[in-house]
Amino acid sequence: MTKSMMILSTLEELRSARASLDEPVGLVPTMGYLHEGHLSLVRRAVEECASVVVSIFVNPTQFGPSEDLAAYPRDMDRDLRLLESLGVDLVWTPTPEIMYPNGYQTWVQVEALTDPLEGAMRPGHFRGVTTVVAKLFNSVQPAKAYFGQKDAQQVAVIRRMARDLNFPLEVVVCPTVREPNGLAMSSRNAYLDPGQRQAATVLYRALSAAKEAHEADERNAEALRTIMRETLAAEPLAEMQYVSCADYDTLEELDTVSGKALLSMAVFVGKTRLIDNMVLESKAVA
Ligand code: AMP
Repeated sequence: MTKSMMILSTLEELRSARASLDEPVGLVPTMGYLHEGHLSLVRRAVEECASVVVSIFVNPTQFGPSEDLAAYPRDMDRDLRLLESLGVDLVWTPTPEIMYPNGYQTWVQVEALTDPLEGAMRPGHFRGVTTVVAKLFNSVQPAKAYFGQKDAQQVAVIRRMARDLNFPLEVVVCPTVREPNGLAMSSRNAYLDPGQRQAATVLYRALSAAKEAHEADERNAEALRTIMRETLAAEPLAEMQYVSCADYDTLEELDTVSGKALLSMAVFVGKTRLIDNMVLESKAVA
């Protein structure tokens, strides 16, 4: 007989249910409004772990004051149906009051890695992310935690935090899931009208063009950034915020691409801010 999925909110309920889960436990942190990107993480966790916990929490501390916290899309009933159909054991849906009770004043902050890119554009964002993820790790105590490459800097920051704070778990990074037209799946795509959705494929096109140039042996990072900028500029509905060609580990901007590198960008399509990235692997020169 299949066990029914537990849906719990309080920390006490989570702790006592957690004790009964078969090991190893996999955790998939999400903000809900699930799409195939999220579900690919859940499927991987179900394959690799005896029990799977999914958290659904729209974390207020990772949103800036002018960002879309109140408008962030939510559909808990649909999310729960999808997770049940995949065989998830437990869904944790804490409230902001449970995560940040009155008097809350403890924060986890990763330093240099959070300075550039998303960290520069969204002050305080990663402090909110690392704090909530540390709290999820402590509460659920998973052996493996699953994150998407879609949020490349987030992955780098969380891996660093897990190492630096001795969390006894493996951070598993899953590939970016895209629509057939290349658009990376995102809960925020729900904000796009049909014309904007088409325009939003320009992120994928810009990244692909730079990646192709790299495959054709272009090693000048500024030339790759220029290819991305020019492709984005050709799409009237898109407004570039940044493009980057950075070292994969440090996220520092490169002059010359030699080892593993990260192409990334943030682009506004209308009021919707979209991010995407691709990884470049350079073969060592013999
Ligand atoms: P979010 O609900 O946006 O916080 O995302 C929860 C997790 O799903 C994060 O680890 C994201 O990186 C991951 N994720 C979001 N979109 C995608 C995607 N298109 N492909 C793969 N993973 C994704």
